Amino acid sequence: MKPKVAIPVIICFLLTLVSACSAAKLEDFLAILPTLTSTAQDLSENTNITPPETSDSQMESIQREDTHTPDAEPEPEPKPESAPALAPELNPAPAPEPTPTPNPSPDTNTERTNAFTIAIDAGHQQRANYDTEPIGPGATATKAKVSSGTQGVHTNIPEYELNLAVSMKLRDELVARGYNVVMIRETNDVDLSNIDRAMIASEAGADILVRIHADGSTDRSVNGILTMCQTRNNPYIAHLYTQCRTLSEDILEAMVNATSARNRGVLETDSMTGINWSSIPVTIIEMGLMTNPDEDALMQTDEYQQKLVLGIANGIDIYFARQNTSQ
Ligand SMILES: [Zn+2]
Repeated sequence: MKPKVAIPVIICFLLTLVSACSAAKLEDFLAILPTLTSTAQDLSENTNITPPETSDSQMESIQREDTHTPDAEPEPEPKPESAPALAPELNPAPAPEPTPTPNPSPDTNTERTNAFTIAIDAGHQQRANYDTEPIGPGATATKAKVSSGTQGVHTNIPEYELNLAVSMKLRDELVARGYNVVMIRETNDVDLSNIDRAMIASEAGADILVRIHADGSTDRSVNGILTMCQTRNNPYIAHLYTQCRTLSEDILEAMVNATSARNRGVLETDSMTGINWSSIPVTIIEMGLMTNPDEDALMQTDEYQQKLVLGIANGIDIYFARQNTSQ
């Protein structure tokens, strides 16, 4: 603003002076005129550059960087310190946004790199499916696709609800420990046969399949935890016997330690469709008996469900640690 106004004013001033002067002095003035106008321009450019703009923009960039560095807190970034010296006008635009975003992602990613994948099958579903399917590949014997499961004698809560509640907590615990988790189901309103469930687990690339169930008995006094795997001579997956047996033992032992429940042992059976169709190590966990009033009530408490989950997750940790050392 000022220089453009100042130059015409100066020129007008000079012209009035010139017109007022004698012819003799006119030449002197004309000789001096260039130097006068150039100094006027110098002055106006100087005032233009120096005081207001640089100081304002520096203040802005300093203020912005001050507020940003503590927020972002990324140690590796050298930019904030070198930036103010370079070009104040360039700083404001790029500085604010890029810094905060990149921080969280790398840490969480690196933890997952070598994780095993656990398939969790919450047993049963809201509506049983009594269509039949072969109990193993090539088997003539058949069973219902999905039975109804048992029910709490004290709580009246159906088994499929308890199974899902514990399975969801187990998922969270395993994810927190760095595992990848595949949930066969996350709602009760599904229609998945036991063959479907085994297939989903293996097609998802899971390393093991953990089937979450609760038990029932005509004897209400029976209580405790039991796990299941196939026999050594299973016609379908005998080659996975050792791994399934080990997985069943590790989980059972860790669950008993975590809950102080009664240890009912590992039951070997070749009649389980979801085991016989599995192509990966698999176990069925019977968390307790819903036909025992005390254990039924206990299994509905958040505290006891957390113990069950802790035990299963500990058993899985032990199983994989064992696999690593034996290889
Ligand atoms: Zn069941």
